[in-house]
Amino acid sequence: MDYLVSITKVERTIEDAVIKSIQLVGGMESIVNKGDKIYLKPNFVAPRDSSTGVTTDFEIIRVVAEEVRRCGGTPILFETPAIEFEKERVYDVLGVYDFVHKHQILFLNDFEDLLKVPVPKGKVLKSIKIPRILQNAKIINLPKLKTHVSAKMTCGMKNLIGLLPDSEKRKVHIRGVHASIADICKVLHPVLTVVDAITCLEGDGPTYGDQVDLGLIVSGKDMASVDKICSQIISLPWEAVKYIRLYNADIKRGQLRVVGEALENINVRFKIPYKSAFYHMSTRITHILDVLFSRIFYQHFNQFLYSTGYIGTNPKIIKDKCNKCGDCLEACPVGGVLNIVTCEVNYNNCIRCLNCYSACGQQALIVKGVSRPER
Ligand code: SF4
Ligand code: SF4
Repeated sequence: MDYLVSITKVERTIEDAVIKSIQLVGGMESIVNKGDKIYLKPNFVAPRDSSTGVTTDFEIIRVVAEEVRRCGGTPILFETPAIEFEKERVYDVLGVYDFVHKHQILFLNDFEDLLKVPVPKGKVLKSIKIPRILQNAKIINLPKLKTHVSAKMTCGMKNLIGLLPDSEKRKVHIRGVHASIADICKVLHPVLTVVDAITCLEGDGPTYGDQVDLGLIVSGKDMASVDKICSQIISLPWEAVKYIRLYNADIKRGQLRVVGEALENINVRFKIPYKSAFYHMSTRITHILDVLFSRIFYQHFNQFLYSTGYIGTNPKIIKDKCNKCGDCLEACPVGGVLNIVTCEVNYNNCIRCLNCYSACGQQALIVKGVSRPER
């Protein structure tokens, strides 16, 4: 195993930086053989585009897909959002279908044919169900570097959860996030990880934190090594990220080496979120209740709670501050959600993308909820 990690600044174009970053760890030729199917796993966790720091930049996906083709492989995009978001809405808002159509990339996101795979030395998961096509598949992991309310940080290792069906995603929250991530990483082994650390997220990630412009691409063939370096980039010692620590204890590792930008020249300190034991317990309980709820009502319990408008991250219009300019209406990808006359929000239809919040220049739109951005 190669424990080499490259850090590359985006100076001219994202394309230049991605290509250089991959070359520094051996080049795409060292991974892709003629005729290979290569599964690209970006982060499309929520309907919030890459400029918000939440999802992977399409330009990175495009460049990696072209590099795969240059080496004779076929790129296939595979990704699903978090279970509290409606899959098709997320793809629509992000523009995934337009992107794959324009660049002729096959896109998969269904879980019809699953395979139960044993987890070697699994701590909390003795087996996991994965899409059959991913068994022994070559995966290129394209995560976003962010802080995370439950896991402290999300990068390569945590990004793999998006490859699993909802039942397994739910298990991660019920059995314990850290041990589950470490277990999943014993089954799925990306051949390359290329991190979007261009616009990142600090604070209440992975969805509602605050943007940080780092302008970096971080790459490596060993996903855990990449995560260790990324945690150091955001000034979070990797030993403080329990899932990395757990995984590291199980897998014997050699010496980590960094090429490209020197770590000591990157001087950033991300706000690491802290949530109470009550918050973590509530998250666990809602996922336990979801097992039955989703079977009876064909909707996830969290989606139902958020649609009430009383729980979860939701926008709210402050009547006294609203000048009825309509900018929020223009930014909203869903019709019939905002009413700027009555200043009401129809939480049943709101997909919680917060485009309205970003568009309002009057500070008349605020965000309610335990996880939310700081303006
Ligand atoms: S953008 Fe802000 S000020 Fe303008 S209508 Fe919407 S809430 Fe009111
Ligand atoms: S109201 Fe705001 S958060 Fe809800 S869908 Fe519209 S833009 Fe997104």
